[in-house]
Amino acid sequence: MTTLLEHRYRAGEMHRFSAAGEQFVYLPQAGAIFALDEATDGVLGLLGDGVAAHDDLVAALTGQGMTMADAEGLLRELRMVRLVEAENVVARAPVVDTPPDDFPLQALVLNVTNQCNLACTYCYEFGADKISTQTGKTKYMTPETARAAVDFLLESAKGRDAVHITFFGGETLMNFRLLKEAVAYADARAAETGRRVTYSLTTNATLLTDPIIDFLAEHAVGVTVSIDGPEKMQDARRVYKSGKGSYAVIAPRLKALIARHTTRAIAARVTLSAGVTDVVGIYHHLKHEIGFHEIGFAPVTTTDDGHDFGLNGDGMSAVLAGFNALADEWLAYALRGEMHGFSNVSETLSELVVGTNKSHPCGAGLGLLGVSPSGDLSPCHRFTDADDHVLGHIDSGVDQAKRSDFLTRGHVGAKYECTSCWARPLCAGGCHHEAFVRYGDTGHANLHYCDWIRGWTDRVLDIYGTLAVKNPEFLDRFADRKGLS
Ligand code: SF4
Ligand code: SF4
Repeated sequence: MTTLLEHRYRAGEMHRFSAAGEQFVYLPQAGAIFALDEATDGVLGLLGDGVAAHDDLVAALTGQGMTMADAEGLLRELRMVRLVEAENVVARAPVVDTPPDDFPLQALVLNVTNQCNLACTYCYEFGADKISTQTGKTKYMTPETARAAVDFLLESAKGRDAVHITFFGGETLMNFRLLKEAVAYADARAAETGRRVTYSLTTNATLLTDPIIDFLAEHAVGVTVSIDGPEKMQDARRVYKSGKGSYAVIAPRLKALIARHTTRAIAARVTLSAGVTDVVGIYHHLKHEIGFHEIGFAPVTTTDDGHDFGLNGDGMSAVLAGFNALADEWLAYALRGEMHGFSNVSETLSELVVGTNKSHPCGAGLGLLGVSPSGDLSPCHRFTDADDHVLGHIDSGVDQAKRSDFLTRGHVGAKYECTSCWARPLCAGGCHHEAFVRYGDTGHANLHYCDWIRGWTDRVLDIYGTLAVKNPEFLDRFADRKGLS
C-alpha cells in the first residue's frame, strides 16, 4: 500500500555533469550514466536539494504540456532508476556482505623471484611491510612450487573456462627458465580439462633477448614494461645497484620486443615520482620513439619516512595537468575515430562503459591471489613475502578466516567516507596495499587522493558524455575492441 509520505519525492544520489552542451547524471547506486532530457532536468530542478509532493510535480509537468499519463509514467521511470526517491527511503549506503567461503579464483600472480638486477629507488619490494622480512625468504620459485600453484589455480577456478597467470618479480626474467616450465605445465593441465590459460608478465626489460621475445610472442604472453621515460628520467631512479642508469640497455631491447612480439599489445607502466612528472613528454617518447602500444601512469603518492621520491602537492598538480593534456589528445583522437594509447583514460572509460560498481577496489583476495616464491598466498603481488598478509599456502589452500577478514575490512561499505562519495563505484576506497603503507590498515580509505580520483573520474565522464553526443559509434567500437560488449 502506498503511504502518504511516499507521495513526496527527493532527488536520488547522483553526480551531475555536462558534456558537449548536454546534461548527464552519474548514479553511484547503479554505476550508470544517463543523459538528461528536458523533462527530467525539469523534475530535478523542481526538487533541488529539497522535497516535492507527487501531485505538485505532476502539475508542473502537465503545465509544460505533458499529458497526465506521460507525467505519471516519467515519475515512475525516474523512481525505477532512482533518479528520484520517495522521501521515506533511506539513502542506501553499500552494505558490507560477507564474502563467500568458496570463490572461483580467476587469476594468480606468481612472484617467480623476489630478486632484482636493478635497484630502483622507489621500489615497493622494499616497502614498509617488507623491509624487516626479506631476509631469509625463498629467493626463486621452484618448478615444484610453480606446478603446485597451477594445480591450485585450476582446482580453485571451477566453473571458469579461462584463467590467467601473471608472472611478476623482483625482475621476472631472472627466473625465465621457471616461467617457461610453468607455461608448458599450465597449457598441458588446462588442455586435459578443456580450459584455457592466458599469460602476462611485468619486466624491467633489461634481460630481454630475442629467444625470450620469441617465446613470449609464441605464447601470446602480454608484456608490461616498467619504465620511467626518456633517458634522463629513466636513469634518475631506474638504476643498477652500481648507480648506473638502465636506459641505454633497455632501449634497443624494447625496439626488438615491439618489432618481434606482435601477438599482444605491449604496454608501458610509468611510475611518476618527484622530478619525473612530465606526463606528456614521457608519453610521446614511449609512444612515438620507442613504439609502445599503450602507456599507463601511476603516481607515487605514499613513501616511507625519510624518502624523497613521493609527489607533493605541486608534483601532483603537474601530473594532473599532464593527465588532462593527454586526455584532451585521447578525446581528439576518438572524435576522429582513432584509438589513443593513454591507458589511464581507456581503463577508466572501460569501467564506465560496463557500469562497474565495485564492492572492493580490485580483485585482490577475490578472484586474484598472489603467490610468493615459497608458495605463500597473499591478496596480490604487492603483499607477497609480507608475513602479516599471508592468506594461506598453495599446499594447504586459502585461510578463509583471514581472507574473509581482509575482504570485510576492505569492502567499500566499511569505509565511512566512501559510503557517501559519488566516485565509489570505481574507486571503492583505493588500493589495499597503499592504504596499509599509508595508514597501517588495508581497510582504510585512501583519503589522501580523493580529490585526485574524483577529478580524474569527472574528466573521463566528460569524455564519455562528449563521445555519446558526438561520436557514439566510437563508444560501440571501443567496447567491442576491449571485449566489453
Ligand atoms: S577513497 Fe575517497 S574518492 Fe575513493 S571512494 Fe573513498 S571517499 Fe571516494
Ligand atoms: S590495487 Fe593494490 S591491492 Fe589491488 S591488486 Fe593492485 S596493488 Fe594489489
